[in-house]
Amino acid sequence: MSGSPECIFCEIVSGQSEASIVFRDELVTVFMDIHPVNPGHLLVVPNQHASGIDDVPEAVCARMFIIGRRMARALRRSGLRCEGVNLYLADGEAAGQDVFHSHLHVIPRFRGNPGSFHLKVDFSAAASREDLDVQAEAIRSSLDSAGAGSRV
Ligand code: AMP
Ligand code: ZN
Repeated sequence: MSGSPECIFCEIVSGQSEASIVFRDELVTVFMDIHPVNPGHLLVVPNQHASGIDDVPEAVCARMFIIGRRMARALRRSGLRCEGVNLYLADGEAAGQDVFHSHLHVIPRFRGNPGSFHLKVDFSAAASREDLDVQAEAIRSSLDSAGAGSRV
C-alpha cells in the first residue's frame, strides 16, 4: 500500500488514525463517516492513495462500487434506519470534494429526510466514537459471509 503524507484516509487505511472499520480487503477499506448525514453513513476508499477518481485504477473503481453495493445491502439489514441509499462521489473541489483521497459515500436514507443533503463538515455534528463503533458492528454483522466476506 502506498500512502500520501498528511492524508487522513491513508492514515486510517494504515491504522495510524482511529476509525470504525466495517470492511477491508486487498483493494478497499470501508469505515464510518465521522460527520454522518444519517447514522450508518459509510465511506469506501481505495487502500492506495489516489486524489481523484481518474487516478484510481479501473479495477479498484469497480471494486469500490461492488463493495458500495454490498454495504447498501448490509445497511438495509443492519437494524439502522435505512429505506433507501445514496451512493455519492464528489470528484474535485468544484464538485464538493473535501478529502483528496477518492472515496464513495454510502448513505442510508429514509422518508422524512430532507430531500437534499450537504456533505460539508460544518453542516453536521461529529458523531461519538462509541455510536460509530456500535453502528459499524451492526453493519458488519449484516454482511454476507459469501464472496469477499466481512474481513476487517
Ligand atoms: P467529501 O466532501 O466528499 O470529500 O467527503 C469527505 C468526508 O470525509 C466527509 O463526509 C467527512 O465527514 C469525512 N471525514 C473526514 N475526516 C474523517 C475521519 N477522520 N474519519 C471519518 N470520516 C472523515
Ligand atoms: Zn490518501
